[in-house]
Amino acid sequence: MRVSVDPDRCVSAGQCVMLAPEVFDQDEDGIVTLLQSEPPAELHAVVRQTASLCPVRLIRITE
Ligand code: SF4
Repeated sequence: MRVSVDPDRCVSAGQCVMLAPEVFDQDEDGIVTLLQSEPPAELHAVVRQTASLCPVRLIRITE
């Protein structure tokens, strides 16, 4: 799994950080940052859930 984000569209809702703090963080303005782009298998399910819950759907997953 490869994860990418489009920070320009982030509305700082924070769901990603609450659900998967191992993969996502927020900068001082609340904008998403990616901690790892190829998360381990045990995080794949929660990363998929995060992508579906992001209100602006900016989290992209490539399998
Ligand atoms: S859930 Fe989406 S909009 Fe909210 S902080 Fe994360 S990437 Fe940004």
